[in-house]
Amino acid sequence: MSVELHPVARFPEEWREVLQSFGERPYRAGQVFRWIHQRGVMDPEQMTDLGKALRARLTEAGLAEPFGVAEVLRSKDGTRKLLLELEGGGRVECVLIPMSREAAEGEISAQDADAAAASFDPEDQAAPRERVTLCISTQYGCAMGCVFCASGQAGLQRGLRADEIVAQVLVAKRYLEPEEDLRNLVFMGMGEPLHHYDQTLRAIQLITHPEGLGMSPRRITVSSVGLVPGIRRLGEDFGGKVGLAISLHAPDNETRSRILPMNQRYPVEELIRALHEYPLPLRRRITIEYTLIDGINDSVEHAERLVSLLSGLRVKVNLIPMNPISASDLRAPTSARVATFREHLASAGVSCFVRVRRGDDVDAACGQLALHGEPIKLRKKLEPAS
Ligand code: SF4
Repeated sequence: MSVELHPVARFPEEWREVLQSFGERPYRAGQVFRWIHQRGVMDPEQMTDLGKALRARLTEAGLAEPFGVAEVLRSKDGTRKLLLELEGGGRVECVLIPMSREAAEGEISAQDADAAAASFDPEDQAAPRERVTLCISTQYGCAMGCVFCASGQAGLQRGLRADEIVAQVLVAKRYLEPEEDLRNLVFMGMGEPLHHYDQTLRAIQLITHPEGLGMSPRRITVSSVGLVPGIRRLGEDFGGKVGLAISLHAPDNETRSRILPMNQRYPVEELIRALHEYPLPLRRRITIEYTLIDGINDSVEHAERLVSLLSGLRVKVNLIPMNPISASDLRAPTSARVATFREHLASAGVSCFVRVRRGDDVDAACGQLALHGEPIKLRKKLEPAS
C-alpha cells in the first residue's frame, strides 16, 4: 500500500491494515469504508458509531473530503455543474445531467436498446422518475490537445488521484433532487481517463465495490480518444463490462490527425483493431463519439468512409454538432448538413443519433470543461479542408 494513498482511496482490506496499526478491531474497517462509500461521509466527526478517540485519530491521519465545492451552476434544462476546488489549487468540474423517464424512453426506444437495458428495469415501477447521469473528470486539464475542446487547449496540469475521482460521485450525489436517482456514470469530463490509467482503475474498483456504492460496471462508461494500450487493459481488467466510448471524430488518418493529435501515435487502423478485440458482452455496443465540425469532417464522403470503417463492429454513433468554445472559431455545421450526415449513416444500417445539447448555458456541454477562470490560448488554428 502506498503511503501517499489518500484515505478516501483505500479498500476495506487497506483500512483493516491501517486500523489494526491503531489497535482497532478489524470490523471497524468495514464501518469506516461504508461511511465513506455508501453514505458519502468523509468527515470522521460525523461517523457517529465510532468512538471519540478513533474519530480524532482518523482526522489526524488525514481523512477528509479531498476538495471543496466552490460553486454550483444550474442550467435551465436541470443540468448542474459542480466546480471543485482542488488541494494545491486548480478547479475541475463534474456535471449532473438529468434525463426524464419519458425523454429517455423516447430517445432510447428508437436509438439505443443497450442503454435502455442498462438504465431501465421494467419491473422497477417504484423507481424514481428522474434518471441522472454524472459526468466526471480524471485530470486537471488534458494533454490530448483535441482542437474543439477547451480542456485540451489548456494542456495538462495534473492527473487526479483516485480519491478525487471517487469523491466527485460521493459529493455530486448530495446535489440530487429527492425524486432523482443516479443511474449512469460517464468518464467524459476533463481529461483522458486512459492516459491516467492506474488512478482511473482504482476509482472504478472503488465505485463498483459491493461494500461501497456498489455501482454495476455496466452503468459506467469510459471515454477515450483511442489510447490503444489503455483500451486493451480496460477490456482485460473488467472483462468488457465497463462501457467504452471512443472519440473518433473522423474516419481517416489525415482528417483525424488534424483534430486529434494523438491519432499520429495510434492511427485509425490500430484503434479499430483494438475495438474489434474489446471483449464486449452480448447485446452491448461501443459508443462512437463524432463531433461534427463545419467544413472539417462533415462531408458525405466522410460519412461514407465512416460507414465502411465501422462495418463489422457493434457500435452506436453519437453525432455531436460542435459546441462553440471561446478559444476557437470552429463551429457546428448547419442542421441540414447534420441531418444529411446522419441519414447516410442510418441508411447504411448504422445506429446513430444526434446528441441533444445539455447545459450549454453553463458551459457544461461536451468539450466545454475548461480550466475555470483561466484564459485559454488556442494552440493551433485549424482551417477547413479546401
Ligand atoms: S476531448 Fe477529452 S481527450 Fe480531447 S482534449 Fe478534451 S478532455 Fe482531452
